[in-house]
Amino acid sequence: MSKFFSKRHSALVPYVPGEQPQATRKYIKLNTNESPFPPSPSAQENLAAAGRNLQLYSDPKCKRLTELFAEYNGVEPEEVLMTNGSDEILNFAFMAFCDEAHPAVFPDITYGFYPVFAQLNRIPYETIPLREDFSVNVEDYIGIGKNIFIANPNAPTGIALTVAEIERIVASNPDNIVVIDEAYVDFGAESCIPLIKKYKNLIVTQTFSKSRSLAGARLGAGIADRELINDMNTIKYSTNPYNVNAMTMAAGIGALTDDEYMKNNRDVIISSREYASDELKKLGFEMTDSSANFIFAKHPGIDGKELYLELKERGILVRHFDLPRICQYNRITVGLPEQMQALVETVREILEEKA
Ligand code: PMP
Repeated sequence: MSKFFSKRHSALVPYVPGEQPQATRKYIKLNTNESPFPPSPSAQENLAAAGRNLQLYSDPKCKRLTELFAEYNGVEPEEVLMTNGSDEILNFAFMAFCDEAHPAVFPDITYGFYPVFAQLNRIPYETIPLREDFSVNVEDYIGIGKNIFIANPNAPTGIALTVAEIERIVASNPDNIVVIDEAYVDFGAESCIPLIKKYKNLIVTQTFSKSRSLAGARLGAGIADRELINDMNTIKYSTNPYNVNAMTMAAGIGALTDDEYMKNNRDVIISSREYASDELKKLGFEMTDSSANFIFAKHPGIDGKELYLELKERGILVRHFDLPRICQYNRITVGLPEQMQALVETVREILEEKA
């Protein structure tokens, strides 16, 4: 740390992204919940065309993409804010609505960026333990009087709440905002977007990084009542007015146009998840009921970290978290069917060698 680094940030523990191995070794990469499919044909074409006009700033209003995304989701453009990944809209929500008087609350096991955003913005926060089975106990959040952040499906567990359960939380906290992070919603949960018409305190966030194969382009969105969107626009125009670059905008428009492409890929991922879950269960794994594009699993016969290291040694990357409650687990992104077959076979080998 340099002597110039502000004391304000000296205790900050930054978010640690999953490994992005460089070309030195070809891994089967099942560690960061990316899509195994490339961006859609229109996304790729639009992207190439946008490259020819990069001498111009991108549209700060992100007008066309915002309109398309709003129409796709049955809301008005004024109820949408497009961002640089959904990480950015999450940060905007922390910055715009949380402070000493409006602390944040989220589960103890959830997306690791929430506590980092809270710390960065000097927002007090509290975590609420998930139940023993890693499900969210809705009762814990009823009338809690704090700003609530819930990933639905949750990460890294993949467990989803129903819209009716989330509505109870939102309705019981009218003086606080509730952020529902739907990064993985396309893989099996129900979206809360329709609820934004009824509740002025709900923000739904989504991403193009998972089901729409655009993790590298960085595109996310917030959907909420227009007053909340206005507030977050104040933060956006005070930090980075051109937060979505022109290539990403073009790719996002292409991805939304090729909706069938997304749906077909999503169906393949869901069936690969079911195949791999069944096979891993046959090998003795225990796992949560995932509605996401990953499996969260542990085996009584092998330590979580050991399995992660053994898989890495054999060319398969999964995600292991060194946190006491979940250190026996690994989060395995669902890849192509043949990648999941390779995973199952490799795990079988590792277990046989240990037996
Ligand atoms: N929310 C959750 C629960 C996530 O797992 C991720 C991906 N790491 C994000 C949000 C952010 O994704 P992105 O910024 O790529 O949209």
